[in-house]
Amino acid sequence: MGSSCLVRVLIFSIMPATSNKPYRVGRSKTGLGLFATKPIKKGTRIIRYFGPILDSRIPEHDEIENKYLFELNGRWTIDGSVRKNLARYINHSCRPNAESDVRPRERKVFIRAIRNIEPGDEINYDYGTDYFKAYLKPIGCKCDSCEKKRKKLRAEARAESAKVKARAERKAQKAGAKTTATKKKKLNGKHFPGKVGRAKA
Ligand SMILES: [Zn+2]
Repeated sequence: MGSSCLVRVLIFSIMPATSNKPYRVGRSKTGLGLFATKPIKKGTRIIRYFGPILDSRIPEHDEIENKYLFELNGRWTIDGSVRKNLARYINHSCRPNAESDVRPRERKVFIRAIRNIEPGDEINYDYGTDYFKAYLKPIGCKCDSCEKKRKKLRAEARAESAKVKARAERKAQKAGAKTTATKKKKLNGKHFPGKVGRAKA
């Protein structure tokens, strides 16, 4: 029994750490992201967001500033900028397939699937309103949901301007026809007053 345990330990230490994890770091639209390599069922805890715990009451801690800070509450923050914290690669989405399960008392954060995730899907969660306002709104959110919304708006704007243009063209055409008609009449009147008069009579 002891030896089989040892074998298992050996196998685990030989195997690359990522092999049994359902995700990998990969290239995303905005840089790097975390992608599913196996189906992940809704409700599954995917990965822990971890790093040194910062205490806002300690001035040196309070001064630390990077974009991987995860605030647990008014006092405690996780500094997720450490290399081993692969969860830091997870990008924001306004329509995510995962969420952050924040446990302030344990000072832990887990990322959990809120939908079934397929291999190849990028894993996303909503970073929250504060982050969105501070970092994403100024540059425009690049998540799929926002890109789709923008695309739709652009298409609608294009359709609307095409409609306006068509209307203007029709109007111009009508006006043109009218002008030509008026001109013709005038010309006719000027050059062949008699003829017009006779034709009418
Ligand atoms: Zn978005």
